[in-house]
Amino acid sequence: MINRRQLLQGVGAAAAFSGFSGRLLAQSAPIDVIVIGAGGAELTAAKELLAAGINVLVLEARDRIGGRAFTDTSLGVPWDRGCSWLHASDVNPLVTYARQNDFEVFADKFPRQIYDGSRRMGGAETAGYRAVQKRMGREMAEAAFTQATIADPWYPMAESGLTSWEGIEPPNYSVLDSQQFIEEGDDLMIPRGYGSLLAHYAREVPVRLRTPVSRIRWTARGVTADTNAGAIGARVVVVALPPVVIADGAVIFSPHLPVEVLQAHHDLPLGLMNKVALKFRRNVFPSERTEFWQLRRNDGRGIEFLTRLWDSNVCIGLSAGRFAYELEAAGEAAMIEHALTELTTMLGGDLRRQFDRGATTAWSSDPFARGAYSHCLPGRYGARAILTRPVGGRIVFAGEHTEQTAYGTLHGAHMSGLRAAREARRLLAGSAA
Ligand SMILES: Cc1cc2nc3c(=O)[nH]c(=O)nc-3n(C[C@H](O)[C@H](O)[C@H](O)COP(=O)(O)OP(=O)(O)OC[C@H]3O[C@@H](n4cnc5c(N)ncnc54)[C@H](O)[C@@H]3O)c2cc1C
Repeated sequence: MINRRQLLQGVGAAAAFSGFSGRLLAQSAPIDVIVIGAGGAELTAAKELLAAGINVLVLEARDRIGGRAFTDTSLGVPWDRGCSWLHASDVNPLVTYARQNDFEVFADKFPRQIYDGSRRMGGAETAGYRAVQKRMGREMAEAAFTQATIADPWYPMAESGLTSWEGIEPPNYSVLDSQQFIEEGDDLMIPRGYGSLLAHYAREVPVRLRTPVSRIRWTARGVTADTNAGAIGARVVVVALPPVVIADGAVIFSPHLPVEVLQAHHDLPLGLMNKVALKFRRNVFPSERTEFWQLRRNDGRGIEFLTRLWDSNVCIGLSAGRFAYELEAAGEAAMIEHALTELTTMLGGDLRRQFDRGATTAWSSDPFARGAYSHCLPGRYGARAILTRPVGGRIVFAGEHTEQTAYGTLHGAHMSGLRAAREARRLLAGSAA
């Protein structure tokens, strides 16, 4: 016999719900709010609503919670397949949560090393890199880089740094939008994993796994979510799907969303970052401690490396933007090969013989993410604000893409979940049961 918690988490869900497809799913108690997805935004909204005594049902397509926040332990060391840095630590509420719940966090002060082939460059040699990065920051405000900046020999690498932030190369996102991000305080890291922190935060939230929603029907009287297990009705729905899931029509709304709301989903596409985790049999790096390494190159095809994650023999490589799409399309073996080639160029020696195994992410071809984090298209500043307004008194949007000052992050997703819960309660208070 499965209990309600197991049922909601998907254990035995197929048996319990088989045969309901296409008609209204039987529910023991009327549902106030359906929350679609179990990422950082949705889990936050659900936790807040549950704490207020509201009857909530969370429907998640995957067989796990966390969405783009997920800590992998398959290499023996926790590494985050999605988010790993707690950005803006002075204004990031998850930092407080981590500290209050005995999660160790520390500032990312890892030494930055740039290699020219196998030669480690000194601080004076890389001063030009830091200078062009600063100049680009200033020039971004004018929405165009000067010819002098573009001609700077360090420009391609500095451009790659900006690409990591937005998941796409600089000319392709709204500068006005990116300037709203509040970056106060150090970036922190969390050895147990940022995904693990979210899982801890949401440990009491019941989630029905393996239940993709395909359509959301809404009327003045309520909402209905069509799922692989049937149709589920509620008074209000919280939707925090990655915007591209809606823009691509993977989840549709009946009737259609107002045009400016649908347009806003198109205006906030997801860029790409992918990770490659490499496990070695012994330490192949000159230091025992974690460092941040980059090979100097001018073709935008570089990977950035965290050499020894938590001082272990696992090294994490990060690729972003156009090159990340290219590597993802080439497949896991090619991604690992490219990372090993770059490391061998920098380190030389018998690195390949010490290679044990690797793992890679493929966020753009993940049907439930379709990318890494949102950016705003040039000229479309304001799209995020549109999605903070409920639709039809029944639909509340959340998700990192709706949080103007913290978009693209887990703490932004969390903050949007807090807003969505407040909004859902307001709608419930004003609507008929
Ligand atoms: C490689 C990478 C690196 C990152 N680095 C950082 C970082 O260092 N710091 C940081 O703060 N952020 C980082 N981020 C971004 C951060 O992970 C996200 O902003 C955040 O996790 C998004 O949360 P969300 O709830 O808005 O969306 P999601 O986590 O995407 O949640 C949406 C949920 O909806 C589910 N879903 C999708 N379709 C359906 C459907 N049809 N029916 C039901 N459920 C569905 C999904 O499975 C998912 O669980 C990174 C992301 C990636 C991918």
